[in-house]
Amino acid sequence: MDSQKPRARIEAAPALPHPYAGLTAGFTTRHDKAALVVPHFESLLDVSLVTVDFDTDSLGTFSGEVPRKGSALDMALTKARVGAEFSVDSLGIGSEGTIGPSHQLPLLMANAEVLAFVDLKRGVSVSEHTISHSIRTISLTVEPHAEYRSTLAAGGFPDHGVIVKPADGETTPIFKGLHTFAEVDSAVRVCAVASADGKARIESDFRANHCPSRRPTISEAGHRLAFRLRSCCPHCLAPGWGLVSHVRGVPCSLCGENVDVPAREILGCTACGEQQIAAKPIRVSIDPSRCPLCNP
Ligand SMILES: [Zn+2]
Ligand SMILES: [Zn+2]
Repeated sequence: MDSQKPRARIEAAPALPHPYAGLTAGFTTRHDKAALVVPHFESLLDVSLVTVDFDTDSLGTFSGEVPRKGSALDMALTKARVGAEFSVDSLGIGSEGTIGPSHQLPLLMANAEVLAFVDLKRGVSVSEHTISHSIRTISLTVEPHAEYRSTLAAGGFPDHGVIVKPADGETTPIFKGLHTFAEVDSAVRVCAVASADGKARIESDFRANHCPSRRPTISEAGHRLAFRLRSCCPHCLAPGWGLVSHVRGVPCSLCGENVDVPAREILGCTACGEQQIAAKPIRVSIDPSRCPLCNP
């Protein structure tokens, strides 16, 4: 998987025992993500997770019947707060995925997974994310009786599920979580009749329990989040010490113009607001190709 390389961190010495050892966090998910995150929280923090059965689809769906309100991070934080409210220890986790064309590699699809954590008692609110280009996707418009099986198989079907809906943009009828050709054929017939153009849309069902190629990316984000929570604030000892922002501004190696890119990490605590600038710079100069004066 081509997720980002781990970042170098200044790790504050964890308080011993860790403040979360033996506690339980609520994980707000309906799509079977807990199994991907539990091992990291158990092994790195001794934290157990309980699944909070909240209707996360009411906050927005991949298939578009419910538009997402706010950014992926906003959604993950909202779900984490719901999880914390259901947790006896006031700890919560929420997850949100985004799938779309890659900014860096426009021919590829990118899958970003953000995992957020909140601690309502201490005021901790942190997140970690992972990006992968290993996501499998299916997206095609078909007429009934067309040959689409090979295209579906190329996109990872039947391990990867699909949704079927009318091709003219109507949001009903809609069939989700389909994993057999017989189910797809039948859904295509119904949706084509309901569509003004007589065609049906077949698209990936990106919910985590129907999309195996998302699962390693969610697991990696879970590892990063649990790892971050091991680090405690050097000032107030709250867990979650880590990257909060960047010092920006790096000189161009040719003309010396200050270019607005990250220069150093700022590590901080979301509970007490303590911040420290990392000693090691991310970069000390920038290539003229990224300089607005040398390469306008
Ligand atoms: Zn602190
Ligand atoms: Zn320059």
